[in-house]
Amino acid sequence: MNRRFGKSVIHVETPYLFGNRLLNHVKSRRGCKCYCLSPVNYDYVMAEFGISMSRQKYKLFLIKYYKELGRFSDLQLHVHLSQYPDQLSEAEKKKRILDSYNFFVKDLGIQPKEILFGWYTSDRFSEEISRSLGLKIRGRHLHLYDRWIK
Ligand SMILES: [Zn+2]
Repeated sequence: MNRRFGKSVIHVETPYLFGNRLLNHVKSRRGCKCYCLSPVNYDYVMAEFGISMSRQKYKLFLIKYYKELGRFSDLQLHVHLSQYPDQLSEAEKKKRILDSYNFFVKDLGIQPKEILFGWYTSDRFSEEISRSLGLKIRGRHLHLYDRWIK
């Protein structure tokens, strides 16, 4: 395993808990790529980790935090659909991908090039939506979760 490579790709899911550690990590190791959840996955975050911030506060926090994180690393999309994407309507899948994309473009001023689906799980429909936005779908790779960083 290439440890250096593995430590430069980060799945960002809990910046409201461990954001300072991640910022220190990307500042000391330039060239990191961070796949970042957008506000559309608030319910996923609530279910997985719990969050005391309201939806609105969480969005404002992410905008401020990602603007700082983006000064030191390459930010790309991380979107959780479902472990069983056929259980979600096409409208719901489209909304999550589009909202994440628009969050990057409109709120962060970043044009994303890649999308990483949670659990590496997507389906033909969600992949077509992604490609229509010019996004490359990132496959399996070595990575850290932000919450693993000491
Ligand atoms: Zn994830």
